[in-house]
Amino acid sequence: MFRNKLESYKNYEVKEDNWSIKLDANENQFPLDEKLKEQIRKALMENMDNIRFYPENNSDALREELGKFYGLQKKNFIVGNGSDQLIQIIMQAVCEKGEAILILSPSFVMYRITAGLLDIEVLPVPFGANWQIDTDEIINKARDSRVKAVFLDTPNNPTGILINRKDISRIAEGIKGKLLVVDAAYSEFSPWDYVDLVEKHENLIVLKTFSKMGFAGIRCGYAVSSENIIDYLHRVKPPYNVSYFTQVTAIEVLRNFDRVKQNIQKTIEEREKLKRKIRDLKFEVIDGYGNFVSLVGKGLEDLQKFLGSKGIAVRYFPFESGFKDGSGLLRITVGTEGQNKELLKALEEWRDRK
Ligand code: PMP
Repeated sequence: MFRNKLESYKNYEVKEDNWSIKLDANENQFPLDEKLKEQIRKALMENMDNIRFYPENNSDALREELGKFYGLQKKNFIVGNGSDQLIQIIMQAVCEKGEAILILSPSFVMYRITAGLLDIEVLPVPFGANWQIDTDEIINKARDSRVKAVFLDTPNNPTGILINRKDISRIAEGIKGKLLVVDAAYSEFSPWDYVDLVEKHENLIVLKTFSKMGFAGIRCGYAVSSENIIDYLHRVKPPYNVSYFTQVTAIEVLRNFDRVKQNIQKTIEEREKLKRKIRDLKFEVIDGYGNFVSLVGKGLEDLQKFLGSKGIAVRYFPFESGFKDGSGLLRITVGTEGQNKELLKALEEWRDRK
């Protein structure tokens, strides 16, 4: 009854459990601002009766608000049910079966999962030994006629590595005629943004999400690009893809963004502290810029299990064979000060046992 490929297809895995500290999904751990919550509650209640109707098909009011937020226009945005949905829409819009996308290795797992389902090939470009990215290799590999789009997550998930703006521009120029998708899901936690570059490069899409800065529950992401590209993406988008509750909440978040910044700032401060303190415990920690810290080495899957036994959920990523000699990466979401203390205590205990 079902497609053959589903017999071995692995969808995105979410491990539900009774964790006391959940640092495995890059959610924001800090409670939302009270005033902001009040604003959202008011906005939702004001037009509650609207839930009798379908929401705006293309999230127009939200796109208008995004335009104001970035000094761009509504026509430069498409809104998705999470940026996950936009990743799928982009792939469906540019790739026929058997064509290919280029990604970094490692990178966000949904690129492979989504491409796999759509019978799109994935060509990985590995990071260098010191986590540098080889822009020439990306440009050269993208010359393959099957490649239709390059997906680069920056800060990269799971390493946190940041690609500088010059390199993004260089790659956009180097692959003209093909799409460059810059997935900036974590850019609020890094020193820079890429959205303004869409005015400079006509083949560039920047993907953003509300998820990492405190609103994972509303499932809202957006893509920023030229009017022409956004128009094509809308041809693929399912109808009414973003719920009324999500559209209203996202508008309030943008209007009250100052009330979100504090949690972003706290996350950055806690991340820097964590990097330092985990290094003091003699773990190798990547200099990453997401809302998480990334440990690299051998035996980290055991460490994940150990932390799990203490009620702390973190995520382990094995490297592709041949990369860094059989080691892997442990990605730990930045927690509150209290959560991080517990985490550090557990890491220290692990160290002492060794
Ligand atoms: N891109 C990257 C790099 C991510 O890490 C994630 C979330 N894990 C997403 C996109 C998807 O985010 P959303 O919640 O908006 O679907």
